[in-house]
Amino acid sequence: MTRATCSLCGQQAETDVAPLTWLTSVEDGRSLLYCDRCTRENVRSIEGKLDSVHW
Ligand SMILES: [Zn+2]
Repeated sequence: MTRATCSLCGQQAETDVAPLTWLTSVEDGRSLLYCDRCTRENVRSIEGKLDSVHW
């Protein structure tokens, strides 16, 4: 089983399904997951569709 893992901080969810508070973003055909904390901290960057890793 592959647990849902945050693409930014590497935090793993309790299950293989991301919690509702997590954000799923598809970029360049890849499905990325952000935990609730990273979502809050990076929501503007994520919504801005910035490809840069320099947050
Ligand atoms: Zn995270």
